[in-house]
Amino acid sequence: TTFEVSVRCAEVSSGLAVVLSYQDLTALEQAEDMRRDFVANVSHEMRTPLTSLQGFIETLRGPAKNDPAAIERFLGIMDQEAGRMHRLVEDLLSLSRVESDVRVRPTTEVHLQRLVNEVLAALTPVAAAKTVTLVPELPEEDIEIVGDREQLWQVFSNLIENAIKYGVEGGEVKISMTGPEHERAIMRDGVQITVRDNGIGIPSHAIARLTERFYRVDSHRSREVGGTGLGLAIVKHIINRHRGRLRISSVIGEGSEFKVILPVERRPASQQS
Ligand code: ADP
Repeated sequence: TTFEVSVRCAEVSSGLAVVLSYQDLTALEQAEDMRRDFVANVSHEMRTPLTSLQGFIETLRGPAKNDPAAIERFLGIMDQEAGRMHRLVEDLLSLSRVESDVRVRPTTEVHLQRLVNEVLAALTPVAAAKTVTLVPELPEEDIEIVGDREQLWQVFSNLIENAIKYGVEGGEVKISMTGPEHERAIMRDGVQITVRDNGIGIPSHAIARLTERFYRVDSHRSREVGGTGLGLAIVKHIINRHRGRLRISSVIGEGSEFKVILPVERRPASQQS
């Protein structure tokens, strides 16, 4: 703990008094440390693909100049590296957006089941490329919540994409949601949307740190599958903005489960569309 202590003299009726005041700087210092770590992380994440791009440009100008097969291969790698930087910039922008306007209340009526189905359709090619089967277990009737559609899209997209990325070839990703038959439970606790995979799993010591910016269980694997290390930090912020909760459980070698619990809020009748 760090204190800033200041001393001053003050005039009181009986003469002069010495006034000691102090301020706890620990929280400020922690915020400053986090900011510094964040900048260091971003710089490192940017530098790696940039260094690699520069290296390949040099090779293309020199040794590989007259080798069409090598040129083609190196251009492919450069494309991947540029894609990695692009994703990083996109994720940084998303993170700063969801971090900056914490007080803005999301106000659109979102049909959760429709939204999840759209995300699943968009991720079908990603799953197919890894021969992972997406198994939706969604209630037939739509469930609506008041929220920010684009941000909730990002939550489910990040979770389902992770389940595919860290899943096994030929594996399965189940997406389930509590249905209208659980109306009372939904009103009491919120809607639960669960993304479950039968992939590599997450060690228990890592679970609490997963939503930290740039935290990865296995950096090499994360980079290999195109991760930025920011996905779950974004997910956590968006869920917080919706006053929801995220529960993560996992068994190494068996798979992981990410459960999103979103409160159901009835809009005043005058605002309903
Ligand atoms: P990344 O871009 O690296 O995937 P995330 O913030 O989305 O970053 O996830 C952080 C880390 O959590 C990942 O690097 C990975 O180690 C771990 N992780 C996330 N989802 C899963 C999952 N479904 N199964 C196993 N590990 C996961």
